[in-house]
Amino acid sequence: MDKILKIGIVGCGAIGKDHCRRIMETVPGATVVAVSDYVAAAADETAAKYGIRSYGSDCKGMIADPEVEAVVITSIDPTHHDYVMETLKYEKWCFCEKPLSQNAKDCEEIMARELEIGKKLVQVGFMRRYDRGYAEMKRIIDSGEIGAPLLIKACHRNVSQGPGFKTENGITNVAIHELDICRWLLGDEYEDAQCVRVRQSSNSNKGYDNPQVVLLRTKKGCFIDVEVQVADGYGYDIQCEVVCENGTVKLPDPYAVVRRSRPDPAKDPGETMPIMTDWKERFIEAYDIELINWVASVNAGAITGPSAWDGYVACVAGDACNASRGTSQFMKVETIEKPELYK
Ligand code: NAP
Repeated sequence: MDKILKIGIVGCGAIGKDHCRRIMETVPGATVVAVSDYVAAAADETAAKYGIRSYGSDCKGMIADPEVEAVVITSIDPTHHDYVMETLKYEKWCFCEKPLSQNAKDCEEIMARELEIGKKLVQVGFMRRYDRGYAEMKRIIDSGEIGAPLLIKACHRNVSQGPGFKTENGITNVAIHELDICRWLLGDEYEDAQCVRVRQSSNSNKGYDNPQVVLLRTKKGCFIDVEVQVADGYGYDIQCEVVCENGTVKLPDPYAVVRRSRPDPAKDPGETMPIMTDWKERFIEAYDIELINWVASVNAGAITGPSAWDGYVACVAGDACNASRGTSQFMKVETIEKPELYK
């Protein structure tokens, strides 16, 4: 009989519930056997929906459960490091939503534990690598058909943020996706990084910078700029264009029907295209492919997706961005030497 991976989920918020549904309904070769959350009621509600075990707020108890073979971590960012380390205590497989942690030092500890075990057990939820648009951009860049890449112009715009959001989280929680996808697209590493404060939007007067601009230079000399708006007042809008020597590649907008009709000067411009506001919809297919691939690779005995090293590099770049804020200086993106395990 085919292997069925038994998964436990830590964190039953927005993406925790979504991944639970995905694993139960869409991902072959896996099932969720237990859930937990800081708030016991959230775990109980998700467990009741699928008739599975709730550990309530006993997240560590759930990780220790011998029936749980793999742990999906979908709790809030500051909790990731501790739950990953707890999972590695039992040498279990771990899928950790981005970011792997909120700073590089924590990620080094995770890698040190993996090196001690001698096996990659952790995959990080950088799902954009599984998006058809980004994948096709990478295929074209790697083919060399339009020459070497020179520049990336990207933007990450979110509608709004929850309470407690801080300026640094614009990097550690939001732009972390770009910090991963840009080095993946280019097949290059960062040399240095800078975060620039620009004119502030009246959409955000809640104590955090919005927008911010992230500037990165790579070892091969590419230049990247990423506009980071965490409260844009209109939608979830992700853009990316890579300028190469003999052409460009650009991320397509998500599938949406363009409607054309007789214009009404008062309320209808005649041509409209819906704008998404929910990240769950924008990358829905990428999340499916990501978890399908993760389960297949775990069941085959070796993970193939973004590793703890990738989570670490994104955090090193993120630390440099946050350290540079207000200095008008580029900060070096200095990683430790890449261990053999991640090569
Ligand atoms: P969310 O809706 O706030 O869900 C997080 C859940 O974790 C909440 O139920 C929260 O409880 C719970 N929690 C808080 N502290 C905890 C603790 N110490 N132990 C266990 N559970 C705890 O947030 P979300 O949007 O689902 O995001 C969850 C994670 O996924 C974040 O790290 C985020 O960066 C990541 N994410 C990734 C993507 C992606 O594109 N890959 C998209 C969305 C989110 P309370 O409500 O009581 O705090």
